[in-house]
Amino acid sequence: MRVELITIGDELLLGFTIDTNSVFLGGELAALGVEVARRTTVGDDRDAIAAAVRDALARADGVITTGGLGPTSDDVTMDAVAAALGVELERNATVVARLEEIWRLRGRSEPLPPANLSQAMLPRGARVLPNNHGTAPGVYVERSDKHWVAVLPGVPREMREMFSGSVRDLVRAAAPGGVVRSLAVRTTGVAESRLPELLGDYAEGVDGLSLAYLPGVEGVDLRLTARGLPGADADEKLRVAARKLSARLAPYAYAEGTTDLAEVVLAHCRSAGRRLAVAESCTGGMLGQRLTAIAGSSDVFAGGVIAYDNEVKIELLGVEREAIERHGAVSEEIVTAMASAARRRFGVDLGVGITGVAGPRGGSVEKPVGTVWIALATPDEIVAKQLRLFGDRDEVRRRAAQAALDLVRRSFAG
Ligand code: ATP
Ligand code: MG
Repeated sequence: MRVELITIGDELLLGFTIDTNSVFLGGELAALGVEVARRTTVGDDRDAIAAAVRDALARADGVITTGGLGPTSDDVTMDAVAAALGVELERNATVVARLEEIWRLRGRSEPLPPANLSQAMLPRGARVLPNNHGTAPGVYVERSDKHWVAVLPGVPREMREMFSGSVRDLVRAAAPGGVVRSLAVRTTGVAESRLPELLGDYAEGVDGLSLAYLPGVEGVDLRLTARGLPGADADEKLRVAARKLSARLAPYAYAEGTTDLAEVVLAHCRSAGRRLAVAESCTGGMLGQRLTAIAGSSDVFAGGVIAYDNEVKIELLGVEREAIERHGAVSEEIVTAMASAARRRFGVDLGVGITGVAGPRGGSVEKPVGTVWIALATPDEIVAKQLRLFGDRDEVRRRAAQAALDLVRRSFAG
């Protein structure tokens, strides 16, 4: 089944609002095995919306619109959809009753204004889709040729709720079987261009599942996709294939799905009974942020120091002034001192240090922008590593935080 999406609103065309509704619907429909053939955005214009719906219905089996259902004069979607279908708008008594009830519940004693009543004007023959988070109902209309239109609100929360509450089942009932499901294997510390070589005969796919390379600042996700299988079979195949990929990509693969590296690190620490603290310079707390973003991290993560100014490195962490003068703040000597100070000061097993040149200024010939030292102090040893990271300031900082987390993760491997 082929579906087209039409998002409606001047604010989308003007760039004030990012069209997240299409993103959500695209993902949901893919999961149902439905092909999204085209996305269109039109302004709050009755004729433009009617033309878009008419054209889409001529090409696709189904059309989903979002936006323009409110009570104001710029909300013309119902009118336009009725025109595209060649049916009249008529007042829906159930919707009128609900609008009046909402009006009363909001404590209004005067009668419902006519503008609100416009929301009860729906295309003849439409099935009403309840809106549990707003006033505007949606509709689902099926033409005699079985092509259908689902009209949803623009407010993302209302739209999502209406899709999950009723549209998903209607689409599923209209679509032939088979799902599209994906599972990603997450990697870090390896260049995208190196992956095909490491993957060998898995480079283009595993067990008939397709493979996509999704590079990001923190690493490359390898997304496996199963199409046209029953749901449970797809999930099992994905799990098996993901395990094969992970095995081949050790030591770079750290998780499956959407799991963050910080979560993996916390889990390792927890099962080893180790606690962690950090001393961060150029990342300014990013490492602490990543770790504390995971609920329940307090049993493992003690805290950290943002030792940005050298005086803080000296006063709070006890780094020697003379060592900073001799080696510079971005050096193996200082990062190891920071990592062991974090460990000592917080009374934990593992201390992590980060210091680097995030840019855009502050680089030199020996220490260009992107030079970062990371270190991990354990009860047995201190390991330090120099990184040469590329990207702008934000990217260098994010890559540095990720590399530091990965240093901790790898200390648990083997
Ligand atoms: P309302 O009853 O609030 O007028 P509506 O169904 O008429 O709802 P719109 O007026 O089109 O919806 O949009 C309401 C809000 O929802 C807008 O302010 C906009 O920020 C957001 N919105 C609309 N369309 C989208 C979209 N495609 N993606 C993300 N947000 C959207
Ligand atoms: Mg509106």
